[in-house]
Amino acid sequence: MQIFHNEQHHLHRGRHEMYRGRLVPCHEVPDRLEHVLAELKRRPVGPVMAPPEPADLDAVLAQIHSPRYLHFIEHAWDEWVALDPAHAELDALPSVWPGRAFRTDVLPHNFAARMGLFSFDAGTPLTAGSWPAARGGAACAVTAARAVAAATRAASAASAAAGSQPASAFVLTRPPGHHAGPDFFGGYCFLNNAALAAQVLRNAGLQRVAVLDVDYHHGNGTQSIFYERADVLTVSIHGDPLTEYPFFLGHADERGAGEGEGFNLNLPLPRGTGFAKWRAALRQGVAEVQAFGAQALVVALGVDTFEGDPISGFGLKSADYGQIGRDLAALGLPTVIVFEGGYAVAEVGVNVVNVLEGFSAGG
Ligand SMILES: [Zn+2]
Repeated sequence: MQIFHNEQHHLHRGRHEMYRGRLVPCHEVPDRLEHVLAELKRRPVGPVMAPPEPADLDAVLAQIHSPRYLHFIEHAWDEWVALDPAHAELDALPSVWPGRAFRTDVLPHNFAARMGLFSFDAGTPLTAGSWPAARGGAACAVTAARAVAAATRAASAASAAAGSQPASAFVLTRPPGHHAGPDFFGGYCFLNNAALAAQVLRNAGLQRVAVLDVDYHHGNGTQSIFYERADVLTVSIHGDPLTEYPFFLGHADERGAGEGEGFNLNLPLPRGTGFAKWRAALRQGVAEVQAFGAQALVVALGVDTFEGDPISGFGLKSADYGQIGRDLAALGLPTVIVFEGGYAVAEVGVNVVNVLEGFSAGG
């Protein structure tokens, strides 16, 4: 398994997020990734590389995110500091949003209004390095998906020896991506790395691509991006949005719309769910991917399902993550695994590498 490491990730270092009525230190910190990198040094599962940015990255970003959103995110920090030089010592956090019955088609001139227009929570600080860090992650996701597509093509041209493992890659990046939608950030996410990987696999000629999201939180951004498409199946296993973030999407009755009708599956589970019940949901998700006839898989890998996660509520243990890797590998598909959430910082590395090791060992 090739590992694509976003060396720009540390440029995104939020100071505070709004959480339960308080400004608290960010849960989404650079150390999360550094723990994974350190664990990969102890238990290598493949070469770690930091790829250069693809020349056509902007064109791929524009397939997933709207032009006005991309323009805003790219320039937001400079705008924020231009308003007041003292802002350089603060993070930009949204505080006003267009609720129902407001207009979202008109682009306000006011910076705070545009922060709200393009976001959905006050937990996602925009910092000096957010754009280069998010862009670096998108570059890794695009490069990883292209590497998997190329290896898949080469293997089929050589009519690969029976029993050889399909190509796979891991995108080691932060900030995460699965909450970011076509034109909004939130949930610590700015650019949707898993969606970009899925689109790149489609661009490479793989006809049907599945995104399987195993983060504790519903992958609302990915669902929204592909909701009306039949070529990308989205499946998410997550804490029930009746009680769990992001609250306003992720229910079982959301099955897609238009051409995408039937190509979204949500498997919400109650807070407190342990591994046996969680794994039964994974089996259901895997069966949906098989029934869809997926030719490639993108896994949105959050390890905030861990029992010790400070902001989540499932009961998975470190040893369970190896089994998740084996269950995913049993699909036998070319696979891009993208790092998403996981906030029990010290255990994130072990849990992620357990998945990767299990995956590499096969199903
Ligand atoms: Zn999460």
